[in-house]
Amino acid sequence: MRIVVKFAGALLEKPSGRPYKSMARQVAKLARQGHELLVVHGGGKTFTAMLARLGIKSQFVGGLRVTDRETRDVALMILGGLLNKQLAAAVSAAGQPAVGVSAGDAACFLAKPLEEPAGLGFVGEPTGVNLEFLESLWKNGVVPVAASLALGPGNEIYNINADQMAAAAAGFLGATRLIYLTDVPGVLDGEDVVDILPCDQIEEWVNSKKVSGGMVLKLEACRRALEAGVNDVRIVGGEIPGSLLAAAAGQGPGTRVRLANSE
Ligand code: ADP
Ligand code: MG
Repeated sequence: MRIVVKFAGALLEKPSGRPYKSMARQVAKLARQGHELLVVHGGGKTFTAMLARLGIKSQFVGGLRVTDRETRDVALMILGGLLNKQLAAAVSAAGQPAVGVSAGDAACFLAKPLEEPAGLGFVGEPTGVNLEFLESLWKNGVVPVAASLALGPGNEIYNINADQMAAAAAGFLGATRLIYLTDVPGVLDGEDVVDILPCDQIEEWVNSKKVSGGMVLKLEACRRALEAGVNDVRIVGGEIPGSLLAAAAGQGPGTRVRLANSE
């Protein structure tokens, strides 16, 4: 089965920690079982912290990071460098070879500048993947681990919201499942995890402020993936033991986001 797994930036902060190793082990296990996995990851606090160390201010519009050239270069260093290589190393150490890829590596992820909202600099919208290249990795038992960066016009590298990147990639790859591993146990209604969230309720949840911040973008990404034909889309707590294996088997815990009209 073809599965896209998105790791939240927040889950990547302690590469020596138990949850990190456990998630890497689950990825390795699924790949060993013959699943074609693409791991996509964000940057979270590590990226913001490095920008702060370099005296570069972070600015967000609609949940998206304004990305000037300097910010983009740091994205490449932290997302495409440090975090990407650490995650590939963890999966490899868990027994399945993994390679970190991004953007221009074999032109594996392509983007155009984001049109709406405009003026965010090097913020892109995914337009395609190098399917042949990814398939050649899977054929050799290698797990691609992708930073949320893509190659755009003028050979420039664009920063992509990792949730959108995972959703778009799942669509382009014809993936069966898309699993978001995040720092909350699923979509929360107060303190309760929602088992199933139909897409036609997303707008209402956003308007009533039941969801906010990054979760709004994530739910929009889920909707896009479902509309692109991805069959099973879930938002799951990455630190819950075994949560990735369960989600890959089409089971809880966590939230399944569905098209309104699906059974
Ligand atoms: P990720 O790194 O997984 O993309 P985000 O920070 O972008 O994480 O989105 C997840 C965050 O969304 C949660 O950590 C939480 O703070 C916020 N959030 C807002 N509303 C909700 C909700 N109803 N249920 C769960 N999380 C929510
Ligand atoms: Mg997010």
